[in-house]
Amino acid sequence: MSKILIIEDEVTIAELEKDYLELSGFEVEIESDGQQGLSQALAGEFDMYILDLMLPGIDGFEICRQIREAKNTPILMVSARKDDIDKIHGLGLGADDYITKPFSPSELVARVKAHLARYERLIGSSVQENELVEIRGIRIDKTARRVWVNGEEKTFTTKEYDLLVFLAQNPNRVFTKEELFREIWEMESVGDIATVTVHIKKIREKIEMDTAKPQYIETIWGVGYRFKM
Ligand code: CA
Repeated sequence: MSKILIIEDEVTIAELEKDYLELSGFEVEIESDGQQGLSQALAGEFDMYILDLMLPGIDGFEICRQIREAKNTPILMVSARKDDIDKIHGLGLGADDYITKPFSPSELVARVKAHLARYERLIGSSVQENELVEIRGIRIDKTARRVWVNGEEKTFTTKEYDLLVFLAQNPNRVFTKEELFREIWEMESVGDIATVTVHIKKIREKIEMDTAKPQYIETIWGVGYRFKM
């Protein structure tokens, strides 16, 4: 369910927005103070922000600027004055859209839905482009050749990386050292199957909590290795 943060000091407007958005299936939080709204916006996981311009504490312009520095999440600005719109444009704050008071709640809901759909497509396409491999705590971004283990980035040599990706992309299959050597070192004359053992050891040091009891790359005695799904 998409979660929306409304930063609005006029209680009746905030409640009206909330009611209509909840009826449309959104989860909604309200903050009425600029400073608290900004803190909540930056700390929480929201899919969209609806931001009033005139607020106690920090105004909507500054909040918009600060959210945009940290996040790509869509921002819909709400203003009571038409001339604020020029200011929103002029300042280049990175707001995705604006709506002027008074507005119809159904208009607001329609805008929110459109922006969320567009944003989800955007995220979806960037994930696809990046070709992510995710298995339990391991996340591999194949486009960037980067690896995170439980959120912490680890660095691998080229061959360690190639071997890890090959195993992770073929989980639960047992490969012999010969097969892995052919797969990863195919074109190179140097090295032998002992190289595979050395590389597996190095990879385990980076991804396993306890290399004596590997949770990812298992040794199948007398056969080879298997990446557990
Ligand atoms: Ca206000």
